Amino acid sequence: MLSQTFENNIAFAKKMDAEDELNAYRSKFHIPLKSEGKPYVYLCGNSLGLQPKTTEENILQELKDWKNLGVEGHFHAKNPWLPYHEFLTDAMAKVVGAKPIEVVVMNTLTVNLHLMMVSFYQPTSKRNKIIIEADAFPSDKYAVESQIKFHGLNPKDCLIELKAREGESCLREEDILSRIDQEGETVALVMLGNTNYYTGQFFDMKKITDCGHKNGAKVGFDCAHGAGNVELNLHDSGCDFAVWCNYKYLNSGPGSLGGAFVHERHAHNKELPRFTGWWGHNKETRFKMRDAFDPIPGIEAWQLSNPPILSMVAVWSSLKLFDEVGMKKLRKKATSLTAYLEYLVNTLGDEVIKIITPSDPNQRGSQLSIQVKNADKKMFDIITEAGVIADWREPDVIRVAPVAMYNSYEDVFNFYSILKSALKFK
Ligand SMILES: *Cc1c(COP(=O)(O)O)cnc(C)c1O
Repeated sequence: MLSQTFENNIAFAKKMDAEDELNAYRSKFHIPLKSEGKPYVYLCGNSLGLQPKTTEENILQELKDWKNLGVEGHFHAKNPWLPYHEFLTDAMAKVVGAKPIEVVVMNTLTVNLHLMMVSFYQPTSKRNKIIIEADAFPSDKYAVESQIKFHGLNPKDCLIELKAREGESCLREEDILSRIDQEGETVALVMLGNTNYYTGQFFDMKKITDCGHKNGAKVGFDCAHGAGNVELNLHDSGCDFAVWCNYKYLNSGPGSLGGAFVHERHAHNKELPRFTGWWGHNKETRFKMRDAFDPIPGIEAWQLSNPPILSMVAVWSSLKLFDEVGMKKLRKKATSLTAYLEYLVNTLGDEVIKIITPSDPNQRGSQLSIQVKNADKKMFDIITEAGVIADWREPDVIRVAPVAMYNSYEDVFNFYSILKSALKFK
């Protein structure tokens, strides 16, 4: 696919769409409309994914069952609420490349990150450092800092931030690995964002995990920008835990429930320190309400509360589409779509733009972060006005993500044309 020659014209983009076997999925989503009824060029699925058309009716079904059945809906709803989260597990596991016992949909990302660190950040006087990226998502940094302080330690001593080399935007894998080796037995946890939200860089999770484990550390990943975007293969990566949200590439609605992964090797360890609630307790005896806590094997043991069905139904509606298509096909289209975007944007010339996302398709997902020289927010406002929804990061980066599920080659071409004419006004 990558060796194909792209063409810089709309007819070519339309031809690619006509040949795209996932083209029909676009019509299964609501694409936001500009005032004249023309759809926006929506390239912001890395921030908030679009709404599947089935979500509304599926939510209405749950409202109807609640209206008609009250509490009996836990057993007699069309989709009984008591085991509801289990309906999502297999599809979610496939999206992130995990076994069902390793995956659950619960809480939100930052909450899950804290729950995971309670279990997998166990500092001692000698081994107490956490390694993160210097440009980690702010919430991750706050969470990690607060965990360090919670253990009576000082982030100044215990928080290691990986910085890109002078003049570079992305971290080099060799630098990540050598830093882990260098910190050695003082590292308690390696916790990286995967894929990086700012640069779009996707790390080799297995290499990083192996390196962390070799040094005796635990390894976790924030996959907010990876889930539904790249093939994560969480099980094979061997990492101890991962967390993600489902409202970006996974189209589950604003603030929707997140996901979490704990590797199978921890599934039967009842001794792990853990914050607990009744939904993590043995399902057979949960409603006796008096037994000592007996964790469900696997990640379900980390569940605290009975889940919000009205949010979970939106996650489920989207997962059904991912289950139909599968990550392999999505990734194949995404790779081609992103390569087309890269090809077009690069024709604008490197005096004007610089793509800071790695050019190696194995080191990125759908997103390209485009640095526009001497641009400011005004330039971005012009492309928004012209019908593009993308994302601006100060001081000069546009993040654009053509997602395989609903974006087209025509979207990519239209974005390029609009960017090109906006640059003339710069
Ligand atoms: C989107 C995102 C979050 C958001 O966290 P919430 O708890 O869902 O608000 C956290 N970390 C990363 C890396 C993200 O991209």
